[in-house]
Amino acid sequence: MSGPNTSFDPKQVSALSAESVQAAVAEALTAIAACADLAELKEARLAHVEDRSPLALANREIGALPPAAKVDAGKRIGLARQQIKTAWEDREAVLLAARDEQVLTQETVDVTLPTYLAPLGGRHPLTTLMERICDVFIAMGYDIAEGPEVEAEWVNFDALNVPPDHPARTMQDTFYVDSADSGVVLRTQTSPIQIRAMLDREVPIYVIAPGRVFRTDELDATHTPVFHQVEGLAVDIGMTMADLKGTLDHFAQEMFGAGIRTRLRPSYFPFTEPSAEVDLQCFVCRGESIGNPDRPCRTCGSEGWIEWGGCGMINPRVLQAVGIDSSRYRGFAFGMGIERTLMFRNGVTDMRDMVEGDVRFSRAFGLES
Ligand SMILES: [Zn+2]
Repeated sequence: MSGPNTSFDPKQVSALSAESVQAAVAEALTAIAACADLAELKEARLAHVEDRSPLALANREIGALPPAAKVDAGKRIGLARQQIKTAWEDREAVLLAARDEQVLTQETVDVTLPTYLAPLGGRHPLTTLMERICDVFIAMGYDIAEGPEVEAEWVNFDALNVPPDHPARTMQDTFYVDSADSGVVLRTQTSPIQIRAMLDREVPIYVIAPGRVFRTDELDATHTPVFHQVEGLAVDIGMTMADLKGTLDHFAQEMFGAGIRTRLRPSYFPFTEPSAEVDLQCFVCRGESIGNPDRPCRTCGSEGWIEWGGCGMINPRVLQAVGIDSSRYRGFAFGMGIERTLMFRNGVTDMRDMVEGDVRFSRAFGLES
């Protein structure tokens, strides 16, 4: 390495001249100011700040200067490089802030946007079916009646003309609250709502009473200890079975389609006299499968009729028990299982599907309101 050249004229090292340094600074500042993003700024750093920049290269020439010129050139280069470095850092701060601002804007989560990640639930078909039934009767001027699920034994049985020794009253069929002589049961039917309606209301009475009832059955494909019934009650002057039949036919058509009829078969219930089973004309084959092996019907088992519920004219003794003048007023009542109605209306074959709460079952029925 050669020593300092004392006769060296600094003007000959053009890269170190004040003009050259000034030009390099001007070029660097322009380039840095023009950087639109951090990638461009990185390029500018390589070109104007780091070891390959013009001023860094010029700095290496200082060693070749005479001692008197070294200080001057060193100061000039140093100040110039500092000026560029400061400009670069200022620009970097501006671009970093802009980048952060952009990230915040672009990555903002709009919590009000709809999402498909949370699947929609479904209202239980038993609920929507009960509401639909209520709508049918409200349109005919009926009120909805309700009653407690924990019920007095008198209302659940005695007032409905079920004698104390009736087998339905045993603990094999009925959930007693506390002991069998407590006088309090989980209602085994919606009929006690009829009693309450007749006790609470003035005649004429027209009520529809949907509700949950309880019996000591094991859960299997066709039984459940908790199920639902809907019961209708009408008490007025001059009521006949023709009124009952007309009401049931209208109900059947609203549920299963125009033209569907009902059929009454003689039966016995303690609280109605006369009593009848209600059969529904099969809404799939409309009876055309009877005696027609070419057109079998799975819904009715090719019998043309489906057992739907029970009905009858209210036994005068029941009217008397709730203080209604049975010589003046007569009434009819009918009741259906909601689960059973849903089973053949919608082809549900296993009752357990209705109680297990699996949303895949409910969702298949849609979100009908
Ligand atoms: Zn059929």
